[in-house]
Amino acid sequence: MLETPAFWKTDLDTIEQLALTAKAAEVRKIGISAGGRPMWCFSYGEKQPITHQANYSSACGGHDKSCYVPLEGKKPVVLLLGAVHGGETEGTAAAINLISLLETGKDLIGNEYPSLIEAARKVRLVIVPVCNPDGRARVQPAAMIGCTGDELRYWMQGTWTDGSLCGWPDCKKTHPIKEKVDFLGGYFNDDGINLMHDNFFHPMAAETQALIDLCDEESADWILHLHGGSNSTNVLLQTRYVTLECQEAIHNLAMRCDETARATTDDLRFNIQDIPGKECGKTPPSFNLTSALHHVCGGVSAVFESNQCIIDQSGTHYNHEQVYRSHRILFEQCFLTACGE
Ligand SMILES: [Zn+2]
Repeated sequence: MLETPAFWKTDLDTIEQLALTAKAAEVRKIGISAGGRPMWCFSYGEKQPITHQANYSSACGGHDKSCYVPLEGKKPVVLLLGAVHGGETEGTAAAINLISLLETGKDLIGNEYPSLIEAARKVRLVIVPVCNPDGRARVQPAAMIGCTGDELRYWMQGTWTDGSLCGWPDCKKTHPIKEKVDFLGGYFNDDGINLMHDNFFHPMAAETQALIDLCDEESADWILHLHGGSNSTNVLLQTRYVTLECQEAIHNLAMRCDETARATTDDLRFNIQDIPGKECGKTPPSFNLTSALHHVCGGVSAVFESNQCIIDQSGTHYNHEQVYRSHRILFEQCFLTACGE
């Protein structure tokens, strides 16, 4: 593992301290995990009172989305969701630095980013730095950047009862996984549930229910799920089982982030995924948390996969500063996109 720089804060104690001391944010616990840990939520910007005449599904069924949210004059709402997988701390580190920026005018390095602050103030910004506090508590390293592939597998997916590494995607073939493992990886809450693949029609985990409720209460326009993606270059994944408009919005944000990266840096890039075709096949793509949250509120819901710099595997290797800088590009371009700029 590379040495973790001082600005890279991702532990639950730091978040609790921030929650107790934040002044600009409205801070609340949106849920309690299976292991009894709070899910802290930081909101910036006024909450527009919206009365839902119908839920999102019924409004669409009635051929009139305005029965769920007003079509004109709605303040854009952006949700940033960190660490749905507890070992993927890249987005959490970036979110905590963004909170510091909004609270003090400086991030944890002491840098100021006026254009990012200005963009953030144009939206209602709702940040959950860690959505899976049980998984986060179980993963000891503050960052996986510079780890080996085996270290990543251990902390993310855990070990089977025979001691062998669970790995991806085999860790998804048993769900909940708790009874089958020796070490429960950071993917899971204390009940062995991977929030990404909960039963969304009857949520098994309180954390999943809290995120569904949050999207509905906030009538979210954008929901960015901040994940780690091994040695991939920064990428906004295409969400499945959502509208073409949602997929086009994800594509356009990815293009915008890459253009910004090319214009302002020599070293960062964003991969741009094509818009996928209709879901099909014997084993179709999963309807996951990202898909589900779109269907709660109609917002654009997308996974951002950050680089995790696995040193003994090929691919892109970004350091902590590059990973953090990538997130700042993503955040600023998302805020501007959300408010139509
Ligand atoms: Zn993940």
